[in-house]
Formats: sequence, C-alpha cells, structure tokens
Amino acid sequence: MSQINPISIVGQDREQLAMSLAAIGVSDSQVRMRVNQLWHWIYERGVADFDLMLNLSKSLRDDLKQNFTLGRPEIVEEQVSVDGTRKWLFRFMASDGNTGLPVDVETVYIPEPERGTLCVSSQVGCSLTCTFCHTGTQKMVRNLTASEILAQVLAARDRLGDHPDSAVDPEIIAPHSGRKVSNIVMMGMGEPLLNFENVKQALLIALDDSALGFSRRRVTLSTSGVVPAIGRTASEIRCMLAISLHAVNDELRNELVPINRKYPLDQLLQACRTYPDVANCRRITFEYVMLKDVNDSLDEARELVRLLRGIPSKINLIPFNPWPGSQYECSSRKQIDRFAGYLMEKGFESPVRTPRGRDIFAACGQLKSASEKPAKSPRTDAKGLVELN
Ligand code: SAH
Ligand code: SF4
Repeated sequence: MSQINPISIVGQDREQLAMSLAAIGVSDSQVRMRVNQLWHWIYERGVADFDLMLNLSKSLRDDLKQNFTLGRPEIVEEQVSVDGTRKWLFRFMASDGNTGLPVDVETVYIPEPERGTLCVSSQVGCSLTCTFCHTGTQKMVRNLTASEILAQVLAARDRLGDHPDSAVDPEIIAPHSGRKVSNIVMMGMGEPLLNFENVKQALLIALDDSALGFSRRRVTLSTSGVVPAIGRTASEIRCMLAISLHAVNDELRNELVPINRKYPLDQLLQACRTYPDVANCRRITFEYVMLKDVNDSLDEARELVRLLRGIPSKINLIPFNPWPGSQYECSSRKQIDRFAGYLMEKGFESPVRTPRGRDIFAACGQLKSASEKPAKSPRTDAKGLVELN
C-alpha cells in the first residue's frame, strides 16, 4: 500500500500557508504574524529545520514538525564539472500530500564571474519531443509542484552555502547582491508553460521581496512555444522570456520542435511582439541551437533577421550538445562564427553560448533523469563526484 507523504509548506502562497496554519490550530489573530515569520525563516534565512525557527514557541514548532515538511529533496548525486558547473540529482517524494512514487529531477548550477545561474526543472521528463533534446526522449512522468520547483533553489543554496549565516548575525537576511545563486532560468527538464500554475506560483515566491527577492531581470522562463500561455506569462509572472526558436520556417520547426505544428511560427512571433510591453521587459531572448547542415546556413541567418524585425531581441546561439544516441552534429565553429557575425552585422546581440558542464552531462538539452530506473546510491569514488554529507 502506498503511504501518504507529509505536506511541504515550501511553495505555499500566503493564503495557503494561512490555511495550513489554521488547520493545526493557530488562532485567527496570530495567523498573519506566523505566516510572516515562517516566510522569513524559509526563504530569507533558508532554514531547513523547524527547530531553528527560534521566535516560534516550542509547541508550535512541534506541531509544525508533526504535520509539515520544509520540502528538501534527497540528494542522490552531486557532480562537479571541470569548469565548476554543478549538477544535482534530487529525489522528491510527492510533497502535495498525495500518494505517489518518488521522482528524480536534475538541477544545474553554472558559476560565472558576474553571476551564478541556477537552471531549474519544471517537469519530470517532457511531453514534447524536440528531436535534438535528451529530455525529450524521456517519457513525461509528471509535473513538479510549486514546492518542488522552489525546493530546487533552496537545496542548491543549502549545498552552496548561499544562505545568510545566522550564527554571525541573527538578524541578517539574504543580501540581494553577492549571492551565489543570483539568477534563475527555467531551462532544466520539462516545458514550464505546460505546468503553468505551479511554475507561476513558484516564480512569484522567488520574485517576492519578502521571500527570495530575485529581481525580475534575473529570472528567465524558456519555452518551446506554448503560445496561449505566453500572454499569461507576460501579465501574471512578468519575468524575462526566452523562446526556443531553432528554425526559421514551419517545415523544419515542425520537425525539430514538434509543438510548432500546433502553434506555428506566425502565432509564436505575434505573441512575442506584445510580450515586452505587457511584461515591462526590454527584450526577448531567442535560443537557436546550431545543428550542422540542418539550420545553420547564412540564408537561415538572413531569414532569422527578417522574422525578428520589430521584436526587441537578443539571439543566443547554442552549440548543439550531443547525448548518447543523438542524431545531430554540432555546427563547425567557423560556421557558428559566420552565422553570429551576420546577425551582429544586422544589429542583433548574438552571443555564442559556451557549453558548460558537458563532461557531466549538465549542458543544455543533456538532462535526463532515470525516474523509471532503480535508485542509485550516492557515489564518492569517481572523478568529478563529491562526497555528500
Ligand atoms: N522546455 C523548455 C526549457 C528547457 S530546454 C524549452 O524548450 O525552451 C532549454 C534550452 O536548451 C532550450 O532552448 C532547448 O531547445 C535547448 N536544448 C535542448 N536540447 C539541446 C541540445 N542537445 N543542445 C543544445 N541545446 C539544447
Ligand atoms: Fe521538452 Fe524543451 Fe526538451 Fe523540447 S527542448 S523536449 S520542450 S525540454
């Protein structure tokens, strides 16, 4: 018989948390204050243990412990690339009170001199089947809950020592600068806009100044083009948007990004035209994976310029990252530079993304968990793997 898992209060909005507290007997007059205190401990201080919430009475802490969790996943594996990129395999029990099998999720941390980016997953597997993406070969297992999406951020910060040190100053809160995780990108496993409500709830908490307090300019959602949800992202989340474009005509895009059959290029680009004004952001990022002899000709660069006319854009050229069994090759460096050079000549910022963490299969499109497979145990011996506490 499957067992009921306890509910995580990570990812609950203020109203839901108030209801959770009322359900364990916190009085109406106290609920608001307790919600504020809990949010402070959970997000600003990052505590993972109710007993560290020192301004709550012992009996309330005991009640919380008996009924709720702080959502942390089991860390099945933590790998560190030669370039410093880290990849975690997190295991979540269903945290929404439902029964359910545990699921494994990958999350990647990419340190750079100017920023530290956490690449967060929204689903286990993906129901879309983009032909160049490893996640697309894994069957869709389920949507992640808001709790599980945020818990990836909290668990990464736990491991990176990115929470403020309460031993040094009990009043200190997470500084908004100097954080190890300064940016969040919804570019891990899954299509975030096919899990809209949970992704929205998680990101609104990430953006809330009294929770994680990320700036809207530092939170980016990437979509393969779920057009009806793009407008809602603009008006309800208002974060930065990246579009996985990858092809400049419907015929090729139907093949590479099959959701294009449902929402073709003209509809996608129309949604992009209105996004910056509604979301109040400067521009949209278009992602373009460089596939040798498939989408990397100069004619295609020309067509790209034509298509994006009138949309404030930046174009990220992503060298294709191979995975076992993939059917494509990465374009040559020379061809990528010619393609980028043309776009720059036409006034587009078009950086070529340096692949990060390829050696640990952490680069774009290489993520694929093995939720269907039997559990792995933490490893400590192989090169690139660190010991877990
Ligand atoms: N599902 C969302 C977000 C996850 S994928 C989306 O498709 O946008 C993050 C980015 O990596 C997307 O632009 C995706 O198209 C790209 N990508 C997927 N597989 C890749 C691969 N093998 N090499 C390089 N980029 C890849
Ligand atoms: Fe899913 Fe994005 Fe991969 Fe396409 S590229 S299969 S939408 S994760």
